[in-house]
Amino acid sequence: MFSVATAASAAYIVAALLFILALAGLSKHETSKAGNSFGIAGMTVALVATIALAAHGGLSPVALSLLIGATVIGAAIGLWRAKVVEMTGMPELIALLHSFVGLAAVLVGWNGYLHVEACPCGSEARALDAQGLLGIHSAEVFIGVFIGAVTFTGSIVANLKLSGRMKSNPLMLPGKNFLNIGALVAFLALTVWFVQEPTLWLLILVTVLALALGWHLVASIGGGDMPVVVSMLNSYSGWAAAASGFLLSNDLLIITGALVGSSGAYLSYIMCKAMNRSFISVIAGGFGIEAGPAEDKDYGEHREITAEGVAELLAGADSVIITPGYGMAVAQAQYGVAELTRKLRDRGVKVRFGIHPVAGRLPGHMNVLLAEAKVPYDIVLEMDEINDDFGDTSVVLVIGANDTVNPAAAEDPSSPIAGMPVLTVWDADNVIVFKRSMASGYAGVQNPLFFRQNSAMLFGDAKDRVEDILHAL
Ligand code: NDP
Repeated sequence: MFSVATAASAAYIVAALLFILALAGLSKHETSKAGNSFGIAGMTVALVATIALAAHGGLSPVALSLLIGATVIGAAIGLWRAKVVEMTGMPELIALLHSFVGLAAVLVGWNGYLHVEACPCGSEARALDAQGLLGIHSAEVFIGVFIGAVTFTGSIVANLKLSGRMKSNPLMLPGKNFLNIGALVAFLALTVWFVQEPTLWLLILVTVLALALGWHLVASIGGGDMPVVVSMLNSYSGWAAAASGFLLSNDLLIITGALVGSSGAYLSYIMCKAMNRSFISVIAGGFGIEAGPAEDKDYGEHREITAEGVAELLAGADSVIITPGYGMAVAQAQYGVAELTRKLRDRGVKVRFGIHPVAGRLPGHMNVLLAEAKVPYDIVLEMDEINDDFGDTSVVLVIGANDTVNPAAAEDPSSPIAGMPVLTVWDADNVIVFKRSMASGYAGVQNPLFFRQNSAMLFGDAKDRVEDILHAL
């Protein structure tokens, strides 16, 4: 017999499968478009099924029109933001979206409490109690509100830091590790208490505690570790959604939350490995990291080169490696870079790209830009695939990259980015650095590469300079 509930359950399974296909698709450039389409289809199925289920469950016409109205307005805002956002603004937009998931989890948790534990009629609470499930419900409320509130404020701080509206330096409050651990221990103790005695003031207390903890955790993390934080918040937002799924008895929300939560955590782990950071240290808000000494080292003089000089070098080169970074995205230089690549390859020069895992402002940032400019995938290599080849390379073009090519990470144990694997561009015969000034990169650390014998600076906007080289060629 057909029922809306059965159809919705079937739709949830289809949506869950589509989300799994989306994740699988998004893991490779070649299949990422298909992965995105699977994700959109899954979300559409999920939304239609949820609205149908709510309508069938006796939602009043006013509530139903509010639900549909909110969905349409939300979708319109989402479409508009996705259309206007610059690639460089993507991480901060993602951080902002995570904050919405966190806030939603807090509201769902509070709603669950007000409908059950705090409801004056007490009928739902008595029914759950009779089945021995009231304690579980209270734990779901408490944990959901905690994870949601940590995600909410943590994501807002990440958004402020990534958009430059808050300093990217780590906040170093005295006893910061003690504060973080103390908050976690307090949360555990309060959870046990709340399950025994679900009173309003305990829920208010945990909400305030988690809001403060989320703020402090992310504020304590330095700029260089922000990519990990963004994917960690992605993971937290998944767990917050899963907690809401338990409260709302919505299987799809549990599955989707777990998929986002675990894939985000795994991505953070891979990124920590790529940056030689301790995973625990980063998720615990920079646990054990102390402020580095201020820098006033004299690195000597840098050398400058003109676009014509670079064109001459390239004309005589056998092999060229291009290592793009955030500046290529800012300048939107990828089309000129793709054109330069074509020209050089037509002349028989071996051209490849070396991509650092955290080049730019989000994982995969450079790959997306290069794919957009139709650079062939097979010449775009990961850091580990290309690092041994710099020694046999005539010219390296560092286009708007800085931290990801900083030799201090490999050679100076006192550097704030010490131990972070970097592209060893300095092993090449010639290194040309495209940037506008001698300013430092995202991590705020001076780069000794600019002062090496085999390095030369090509100052100016990367797009203009690449075009000058194309003319000269
Ligand atoms: P960096 O941020 O270290 O450096 C970018 C360089 O580009 C700057 O030195 C800047 O110098 C130059 N630049 C900016 N605009 C232009 C322009 N129009 N033309 C030419 N050059 C320009 O970039 P990297 O990609 O090397 O490193 C990424 C950094 O971002 C790392 O520290 C990473 O940890 C962090 N990060 C990465 C995320 C990720 O997931 N990928 C997320 C968040 C942070 P100047 O001003 O002199 O022009």
